[in-house]
Amino acid sequence: MASSTKYIFITGGVTSSLGKGIIAASLAKLLQSRGFSVTIQKFDPYLNIDPGTLNPYEHGECYVTEDGAETDLDLGHYERFLNTPTSQDNNVTTGRIYNNVITKERKGEYLGKTVQVIPHITDEIKRNFFKLGEDGKYDVVITEIGGCVGDIESLPFIEAVRQAKWDIGANNSLVIHLTLIPYLAAAKELKTKPTQHSVKQLLEAGIQPDILVCRTEYHLPQEVKKKLALFCNVQLNCVIEAMDAETIYDVPLLMKKEKLDERVMSKLKLTSKSNTDLEQWKDFLGRFKNPTQEVTIGLIGKYVSLPDSYKSIIEAFVHAGAACECKVHLKLISSEELHPETVEKKLEELDGILVAPGFGERGLEGKIETVKFARENNIPFFGICLGMQVAVIEFARNVLGHVKANSTEMDAETPSPFIALMEEQKNLEQMGGTMRLGSYSCDLKKGSKAAQAYGKPKVQERHRHRYEFNNKYLEEMESAGMIASGINPDSKLVEIIEIKNHPWFIGTQFHPEYKSTVLNPHPLFVKFISATIDNKKNK
Ligand code: GLN
Repeated sequence: MASSTKYIFITGGVTSSLGKGIIAASLAKLLQSRGFSVTIQKFDPYLNIDPGTLNPYEHGECYVTEDGAETDLDLGHYERFLNTPTSQDNNVTTGRIYNNVITKERKGEYLGKTVQVIPHITDEIKRNFFKLGEDGKYDVVITEIGGCVGDIESLPFIEAVRQAKWDIGANNSLVIHLTLIPYLAAAKELKTKPTQHSVKQLLEAGIQPDILVCRTEYHLPQEVKKKLALFCNVQLNCVIEAMDAETIYDVPLLMKKEKLDERVMSKLKLTSKSNTDLEQWKDFLGRFKNPTQEVTIGLIGKYVSLPDSYKSIIEAFVHAGAACECKVHLKLISSEELHPETVEKKLEELDGILVAPGFGERGLEGKIETVKFARENNIPFFGICLGMQVAVIEFARNVLGHVKANSTEMDAETPSPFIALMEEQKNLEQMGGTMRLGSYSCDLKKGSKAAQAYGKPKVQERHRHRYEFNNKYLEEMESAGMIASGINPDSKLVEIIEIKNHPWFIGTQFHPEYKSTVLNPHPLFVKFISATIDNKKNK
């Protein structure tokens, strides 16, 4: 453990979904703006080794890092706020901890000892707490503990935080507890009792929180803050109000106003390394809140009843929309509702269409109808991963005349497998962590719309798929006007397709949304929005 690194732990109480990830990211942003190098990691209390095998309905989007880790969607917030990449080490689950311990046990590394939750599991958790701080790269490591205090599942994590505080020593660590102050309309009162109980639970586990961050719909009057300070045993100025915000991107500024960063620095004996500079952030917020135009874009997918399934895409539209000073009204539309008879009625209002990533056959035919509608009516189209594959299948069926064209994922017996399983996927037995994951290079074709958007000949983008474009059909496809404008230089895998004679029709095998951040809106999203603005003007 690098002694100069400071460790901040964020726990949650009262209810889930309070936005620990946003508070962690906002605090990190504020510390970053003071010149500190900061990273955030998330510890999740479930038994899956990672969320890669989870249905999006269970856990929202699976976020993919540069190094190909399938992670919790909070890591997306960390990257979008901090503009720095995370890695496999930034997301650890109970499953991974147990897996590591049991693997060591099988190797005989515990030398005949009885392997137990304390100390072996807690030691392994602590080893992971400290891992990112080891090489001195970070001044501050923020650790978000998933779940709520009091959950049976998070007990070992909470116990490890208690122990870690001793290992790290005074002034080098602190605990922030995020909690809810509900408002009872009938009594016209903000209630502190749930927070008192939740802090008591932390105290029972041997942890005194240093700072309380209180989510609330109304301002906390001074007497409520005093009551919280008194009963929860924290300093009055360490009771921080976190009012509901108009957008998550307001939260760093709200936390700055509440002096969260100052309290943290004073407790950790840190002094700013540079002057606070949030100018670019404020500039983004200014553009985001004062759009000069608006467009409506349809996001066609099958997990639309849980928008968190498309978190990074939704946020990428926020970043790129601000860059274009354009309010993007994103309409989530279930592909299962789209049939040849309904497609026009459901999509005619849209200025642009995005077909989302996904797996399996359900809703596929609706996506194909959607692509056809966008292609034939010159509506700006953006297909991501499965969305790109569907664009190819539609083109194969309706332009090239391969009426049964398909992906072998949907129809193993198709006579025209335009999308097929990658060679290296063929003999895999395990599902977890075995897709083509993470960052790979892509060479862009000169003069293509993709090359124009990026403004450079070579890019790196992140992936999560098993199937690919079947190069057997490349010539036939290109001669009919759908070109491969991005290709992986090593495997020749088609990374981007576009239609030449269309205002803007692009499909990417990779996921550009994972790399979009507040300060670096993704060029393909920016150009897509510009195209939808033009389309709207020309209507
Ligand atoms: N199901 C497709 C594949 O595995 C697409 C994956 C995705 O959209 N992320 O290739």
